[in-house]
Amino acid sequence: MKRYGLFIGGEWLEASSGTTFDVLNPADRTVVGQAAAGNAADVNKAVDAAARAFPDWSKRTARERSGLLTKIYDGMMKRKEEIARLMTLEQGKPLGEARGEVQYAADFFQWYGEEAKRIYGETIPANSPDKRIWVLRQPVGVTAAITPWNFPAAMITRKVAPALAAGCTMVAKPAEQTPLTAALLAEIMQEAGLPPGVFNLVTGTQAEEIGDALLADSRVRKLTFTGSTEVGKTLMRKAADTVKRLSLELGGQAPYLVFADADLEQAAIEVTASKFRNAGQTCVCTNRVYVHHSIKEEFAATLARYAQELKVGNGLHEGVQIGPLIDEQALDKVESHVRDAVDQGARVLTGGRKLRPSENETGCFYEPTVLLDTTEKMRVEQEETFGPVLPIHAFETEEEALALANNTPYGLAAYLYTRDLSRAVRVSERLEYGIVGVNDGMPSTAQAPFGGMKQSGLGREGGRQGIDEYLEVKYVSVGLK
Ligand code: NAP
Repeated sequence: MKRYGLFIGGEWLEASSGTTFDVLNPADRTVVGQAAAGNAADVNKAVDAAARAFPDWSKRTARERSGLLTKIYDGMMKRKEEIARLMTLEQGKPLGEARGEVQYAADFFQWYGEEAKRIYGETIPANSPDKRIWVLRQPVGVTAAITPWNFPAAMITRKVAPALAAGCTMVAKPAEQTPLTAALLAEIMQEAGLPPGVFNLVTGTQAEEIGDALLADSRVRKLTFTGSTEVGKTLMRKAADTVKRLSLELGGQAPYLVFADADLEQAAIEVTASKFRNAGQTCVCTNRVYVHHSIKEEFAATLARYAQELKVGNGLHEGVQIGPLIDEQALDKVESHVRDAVDQGARVLTGGRKLRPSENETGCFYEPTVLLDTTEKMRVEQEETFGPVLPIHAFETEEEALALANNTPYGLAAYLYTRDLSRAVRVSERLEYGIVGVNDGMPSTAQAPFGGMKQSGLGREGGRQGIDEYLEVKYVSVGLK
């Protein structure tokens, strides 16, 4: 059983309150570890440490910072299996998926280890022969990160790696359900030789108190948050008092458009993967499928068959493809979405009930569910379900499909399946989403700029653009007197 303290100033400390909290396995509700219950006083210590570390860290050469990020990548690769198992234990995702997440998470250290060396400036021709204008890109300073439980490793590394590459220091607060993976990552950073205070971790159960302390501190120049749109909006309001820079990676409501000319077999495989991975608990999971009416029945039957074949259970068990939902609240939401759809006339092709895979598996499991003939009035098409429920809605024209897809306050990821190149270009250009997968249900990768439009957020993580979130632009105008 893992037991972690707070990681502050390069040391593992007890929380100021002297208390810890249990971390539960969502598959069987057993205790898998304990984490320190940090509070505002601990945030203050962590910000002190990050502020002390900043001058030295920001002055290191890009080559030095790059070398350290590469060591962290290597450390994650060496302990890949250990991180993956811990993640499955505290979050529930199947072990194979957890291994995939560790690789994805580590890739950010590799990618930003390389990008650290490419933080270039600019020179601009001045209006006078006696002037020079130089543009510098400098680290923002101390940054804060608040992350969710659904990707316990990647949502942290997607923030830490570019911040460190840019020369910033950080205080991170992971979700209450998944503090152990975050602490293991801190341990790996420590082992790689990251200087004290460059990365600090405050775990805890008092999210609002911790968040408020980070937001109120004017030494924290930037907040990067991944989580729900609702909490994101609250943090945005509170960040106004100190005019902090913000990156917000918020909720999604991804549509998947399947046209009649698509490779239906391949489309069904990819929709299944995109919908059901992590039990439907990802921000880019397909939330609703729009299919051309001429192929509706055939496509829906294939999806129902694939969904039925998925094995549900404890993510550590051999062959399991779908783990538990994170908690009762998540299960209630899924159940209420399905009930609402059925009450309004949707047909259940498969699933539709909670289940108990075996006597010991007492967590919140739900059958992979396919609903046919859903409508725009139903909650499954209006809200992020965050569970293994796939609603299918038929359309007649490309215009109608686009209108349905864009009719949401969210704008994170959208997908389309077609063999018609012109349609692929037309539709992808008109989808109001930050990420569009064309015949690709799994677009996330470290080298691409991940992020949303509308109420799905602000800023980008990953890719060349991800490092800009941690850099200030300054110009220096020099008179040659
Ligand atoms: P959440 O409830 O918004 O929580 C996210 C984080 O915010 C957690 O660390 C949570 O702490 C903390 N938090 C909650 N209330 C707070 C407050 N008042 N002040 C400061 N911090 C606060 O979201 P979640 O349920 O963990 O994650 C699921 C959501 O994240 C979904 O909407 C999903 O779409 C979104 N998401 C988006 C992306 C993206 O890249 N766009 C990626 C992954 C997930 P506690 O855990 O301690 O409550």
